[in-house]
Amino acid sequence: MKYLINRLFFLLSIVSLISCATERKTENLEDVLVKEIGETLPQEEANILPQTLEESLIEQGLVDLERYIPGIEVELKYSTEDNFFGKDVYGDLTNAFLQPVVAERLRTAQEKLVEKYPNLTLIIYDAARPLSVQQILWDNLDKPDSLKPLYVADPKLGSLHNFGVAVDLSIYDKESGQPIDMGTGFDFFGFAAYPDRELEMLASGTITKAQVANREILRSVMYSSGFTGIGSEWWHFNAFSRKEAGEKFQLIK
Ligand SMILES: [Zn+2]
Repeated sequence: MKYLINRLFFLLSIVSLISCATERKTENLEDVLVKEIGETLPQEEANILPQTLEESLIEQGLVDLERYIPGIEVELKYSTEDNFFGKDVYGDLTNAFLQPVVAERLRTAQEKLVEKYPNLTLIIYDAARPLSVQQILWDNLDKPDSLKPLYVADPKLGSLHNFGVAVDLSIYDKESGQPIDMGTGFDFFGFAAYPDRELEMLASGTITKAQVANREILRSVMYSSGFTGIGSEWWHFNAFSRKEAGEKFQLIK
């Protein structure tokens, strides 16, 4: 009898350990969301002060990547003057946000990268982009309206960044303190940045085998974590198709 009781206690403790372990991952994400919401202003103050872009993103349920993904680097290019507009169009938005399910996939990609290359980490250049900013980009683009969609998505239609399900990123080398060489910078407009044209660019000597190998590291951790790439930008990855994004999420205000 005593043996049976001991055995029962043993089984119960195993079951509770397993359920703790399975709850752990979602608990972390909830913790991040709770902390974010906890930091927004009380309602009376929020009614007086204008809401910042970040407070608005948090209210819309998006996750702050630096809080959720250990070791990730964030350098929002649109929050600096180092972008193709030469202007800071993000203002008080300096942290990178994504939909929770997309942040989870990105955390997996970061874990895979760091496991294989402990000196490397993902570096985020752009993530969720509010529609108001999309409108600023569109209005400030010095091109005829008919050519603008080649550079920036029309704010009337929105892009996957406006749903919080697309991310622009590269890989950062913690030893050198620099991003690794991908052949072109972020937002380089031209075939040298096209994954679709890599063979041709290699043959002409525009990019090198080492640069393509670096892009392959990024693609491999992203593709195996639930992202797809596009043919014209080595840095851009989507977690959902346009159709799925429209069904599952709201455009970010
Ligand atoms: Zn992008």
